[in-house]
Amino acid sequence: MNAPPNTGIIETDAVVVGAGPVGLFQVFQLGLLDIRAHVIDTLPFAGGQCVELYPDKPIYDIPAVAVCTGRELTQRLLQQIAPFRAAFHYQQEVTTVARQDDGRFLVATSVGTQFLTKTLFIAAGVGAFKPRSVQVAGLDKFAPHQLLYAVNDSTNVTGKHLVIVGGDETALSHVLRYCNSPEAEGSNRPASVTLLHRRDVYQACEATVARIRTLSETHSLHCVTGQITGYQEDHDQLTYLTVHGADAQTQSIPVDILVVSLGLSPKLGPVAQWGLDMERRQLHVDTATFTTSEPGIFAIGDINTYPGKKKLIVCGFHEATLAAYGAAAIIFPDRREAIQYTTTSPRLHKLLGVQMQDVD
Ligand SMILES: Cc1cc2nc3c(=O)[nH]c(=O)nc-3n(C[C@H](O)[C@H](O)[C@H](O)COP(=O)(O)OP(=O)(O)OC[C@H]3O[C@@H](n4cnc5c(N)ncnc54)[C@H](O)[C@@H]3O)c2cc1C
Repeated sequence: MNAPPNTGIIETDAVVVGAGPVGLFQVFQLGLLDIRAHVIDTLPFAGGQCVELYPDKPIYDIPAVAVCTGRELTQRLLQQIAPFRAAFHYQQEVTTVARQDDGRFLVATSVGTQFLTKTLFIAAGVGAFKPRSVQVAGLDKFAPHQLLYAVNDSTNVTGKHLVIVGGDETALSHVLRYCNSPEAEGSNRPASVTLLHRRDVYQACEATVARIRTLSETHSLHCVTGQITGYQEDHDQLTYLTVHGADAQTQSIPVDILVVSLGLSPKLGPVAQWGLDMERRQLHVDTATFTTSEPGIFAIGDINTYPGKKKLIVCGFHEATLAAYGAAAIIFPDRREAIQYTTTSPRLHKLLGVQMQDVD
């Protein structure tokens, strides 16, 4: 569940950057050591690459799980960490990290949420997922009023020329939302809808594609195959897109609202500016605790590098386990952290909220 907006600074023992599989398992290992975590991700959901890149593809190398999809793995991890009541802060990017005089870290996000934390776990994978943009110089300046990367109930398209760029299920669902179809919003009707895609083939389910074809045949939708190469503006307003077609012809398409729906791609982003030792966009770690060059900041999963590193989920799980012990030594300097088994430890059973079972 997404935590409610918080205007004050959140003081905590642990912040995890990234809700991918490794960030989620970090929450579990911290929980076993009685450390509650706040988790931040740019995406609106947990799962990182597993959900964003391959939600329905099977994974076969998770120990004791013969096969599960990316989405199922995420659901199982969320179920496993539920007893530890982590607070999730979605749709925000961690932008700055600064050590304070008392040794804690001030962590700030793109929407202004701030944390003061004793330990920080960077589980940022291959970077924060961000919408892919159209590579036309200057077009960005029309965001966010005329250039959008998503639509929602408050997007006003009434009487406007709407152009949607993309060819996947999401792009096509935006088209269906505004075209003359059952999903079309009652009074929020555009003057025209154009679907612009570089190919005449869509990556969406058959039924969706069939509906798009029907809308095109009945002239409720204008389907264009080509790429944006330029634009025209009038008084700082985007007015026309220049489109180079697959037939090598160039045409101008009227536009008031341009929705770019080309999927997401990961960008390393601000992590590189936090002053940590890096090599080829990955963070150096000490493999005893997966500490970075800054004590108290740990890096786990695809974002780190060390001799023999393998970018596999199971390796990230191991890294998260040792990082949790590294953090416990900072958070509870006087506590001796002896290994306890989840099978037999009453303390762990209490933390997990499970009944003590008799063990033979
Ligand atoms: C097609 C495909 C198939 C794969 N199959 C397998 C497989 O079978 N077995 C296997 O072991 N591995 C597989 N992998 C690799 C596996 O998915 C990765 O190793 C794993 O996802 C890494 O997990 P992670 O938590 O480190 O990072 P990610 O899954 O990349 O998650 C990182 C998260 O951090 C967020 N983030 C990054 N920066 C910030 C920031 N500044 N602020 C806020 N949030 C941020 C991102 O939005 C993202 O959600 C596969 C990968 C792909 C692409």
